[in-house]
Amino acid sequence: MRFIDAHTHVQFAAFDADREAVVLRALEAGVWLVNVGTQKDTSASAVELARKYKEGVYAAVGLHPAHTAKSFHDAQELGGGEAAKGFTSRGEEFDHTYYRDLASDSKVVAIGECGLDYAAFVRERSERSQKRASAEAGGGLTQEEIEQRKQKQRQAFEAQIRLAHELEKPLMIHCRGAFEDLIRLLSTNSKFLGPNPGIIHFFTGTLDDASKLLALGFSFTFGGAITFPPRLAEQGRGGNYDEVIRAIPMDRILSETDAPYVAPAPHRGKRNEPRYVIEVVRKLAELKQVSVQAMDEQIFENAKQVFRI
Ligand SMILES: [Zn+2]
Repeated sequence: MRFIDAHTHVQFAAFDADREAVVLRALEAGVWLVNVGTQKDTSASAVELARKYKEGVYAAVGLHPAHTAKSFHDAQELGGGEAAKGFTSRGEEFDHTYYRDLASDSKVVAIGECGLDYAAFVRERSERSQKRASAEAGGGLTQEEIEQRKQKQRQAFEAQIRLAHELEKPLMIHCRGAFEDLIRLLSTNSKFLGPNPGIIHFFTGTLDDASKLLALGFSFTFGGAITFPPRLAEQGRGGNYDEVIRAIPMDRILSETDAPYVAPAPHRGKRNEPRYVIEVVRKLAELKQVSVQAMDEQIFENAKQVFRI
């Protein structure tokens, strides 16, 4: 059997000590993977990693919405060194030429992760206001700053929709707390979307969001979170995973790990890695009431269609 981890980050700093071993463990378990970039450096390293393997390792390149703002830093992604510290002070502008050149490599199967993440700076705002609360009155981002950041994310996303169209590659979309704006932007740019326009990764939206995105032609990936005890996907607003997965047609579902984050049960809490995607496929099969083999064959076929591999 051949599995697909459609969205993972083995190029991240969390794998610096054993990257080759992690990829080999995945390939030996029959797991093919797409390493997804989040900004310039992690996009370039995703391509570099993919080029080392004859088959089974691919890349996506793009600018994650969180990286359009200043001060985003994640040690698992960029490590704790000086380079990462330097990075925290810059928000990246989307550089069309840079990403177009990277994406011209045949191992690049998607543009992203790109999209909208309004939850990120809602979190940041509450952290900042907590920190500042004792020192000064008020604090946090002003409404105007929040609007500027949202605007910047929307511009970077629209630029990537157009790049994906130009290169005839699918989009790898990240969306948190912003499905209304996401669906609006995709609808107004629908002339740039082909018949199989891409993937909404780690989907946390509602049934209603899903049906609108299905109508636009999108597929959905699910990861380790679906193996956890039932809960609402997005702070009470999001869909119930079981219900949403049952409603999405088999030919629009893919599996992912989003490693190093969100390891599925029974590995929950540990560093995630691509071979654990098998646990996700098992859970999807259970929810769709089909055999693991049937689920997996369909998912692999879906991956071939969307990534053209
Ligand atoms: Zn990701």
